[in-house]
Amino acid sequence: MSFSDISRWLDDRRRQSLQRRRRVVESAQGPTLQVEGRQLLNFCSNDYLGLANDPRIREAFKQGVDEWGVGAGASHLISGHTRAHHALEEALADFVGRPRALLFSSGYAANMGTINSLVSVGDHVFEDRLNHASLLDGGWISRAEFSWFAHNDPADLQRGMAELAGTSGRRLVVSDGTFSMDGDTCDLDALIEVAAAHDGWLMIDDAHGFGVSGHQGRGLVDPLRYGTDDVPVLVGTLGKAFGTAGAFVAGDEALIEMLIQRARNYVFSTALPSAVATATLKSLELVAEEQWRRDHLQALVTRFRAGVAAHDCDLLPSDSPIQPIVVGDPNRALSLSAHLEGLGMLVTAIRPPTVPEGTSRLRITLTAAHTEAHVDRLVEALGQGCG
Ligand SMILES: *Cc1c(COP(=O)(O)O)cnc(C)c1O
Repeated sequence: MSFSDISRWLDDRRRQSLQRRRRVVESAQGPTLQVEGRQLLNFCSNDYLGLANDPRIREAFKQGVDEWGVGAGASHLISGHTRAHHALEEALADFVGRPRALLFSSGYAANMGTINSLVSVGDHVFEDRLNHASLLDGGWISRAEFSWFAHNDPADLQRGMAELAGTSGRRLVVSDGTFSMDGDTCDLDALIEVAAAHDGWLMIDDAHGFGVSGHQGRGLVDPLRYGTDDVPVLVGTLGKAFGTAGAFVAGDEALIEMLIQRARNYVFSTALPSAVATATLKSLELVAEEQWRRDHLQALVTRFRAGVAAHDCDLLPSDSPIQPIVVGDPNRALSLSAHLEGLGMLVTAIRPPTVPEGTSRLRITLTAAHTEAHVDRLVEALGQGCG
């Protein structure tokens, strides 16, 4: 058995400009990164609030290591579930206004584990076309009947669910809160209405909204407006705005207890290091208290959009820190990315299969650690690169 067919596949990818390459980063996260010997302005991380290298969270992490050591040693159900994990779960549940929350070691694991615990053969899962890969993979692997609905089109969802009238089986509706590659947000009110009208559960993955939007950063599914009945399954991740690692699912007692019994990614996986939980508790405190981070970030988004409007760039409509410029062809995306890098700015080209064919793009992300001058430099560089 040789790998020659695999080599051919790799050659094909290279020819189509779809080959992925990892960049070796030589500094901690921040508005600038040392990358392969060069200092670059970083416009592609998800560290939206600039907390990934915050000194107070670093300190909490170190204290966590002093108290708990490094490895958790086992899964949560065996002997890996510590007081630190438990305290974080309670704080997260409180923050998002849900009875309980359950920690997972990543957002990918949380989504796979949750969808697969909720639906199976004989059930139905409905997903937005542009959902994150972890939500799609969860739906496909579940063996439930899988249906797409057109991106951000609750009327299309409504048609699909109506076709099931009178049939048995559970119905699960799944959507990103803020879409990871487009930066737009789901129509939450409409999704709630359609899911409820057809006796379905609504699951929202707020990976990019949690910490960034809502009162004190509580996310798109703001507990002041939306209760557990509206969005029974809520997912948030901790590796983005929270600057640490891991994810959680929040909901009522029965949901969380069922996940503890059934979610295979939970049951059969080593718990996150407790020190990550200790650090995240600190992070949660800062996310809630430091409103200036969200205000500054929003001002940068406005400044960026106003600046780019003067240029011939195909900027998607987005109020979030995710600001995509669609160029279509993967080669074009690579050359625009290379142009920016030549000017000292790191913006990775995003190509299929991460985004649909013909929609290769630069996915620019802004963070609270950027300054107005950083944004102005980016806008100027785009002026020379677009069109
Ligand atoms: C990043 C992301 C995830 C995965 O979270 P990780 O903790 O990085 O595994 C899940 N859902 C969405 C929408 C994301 O953007």
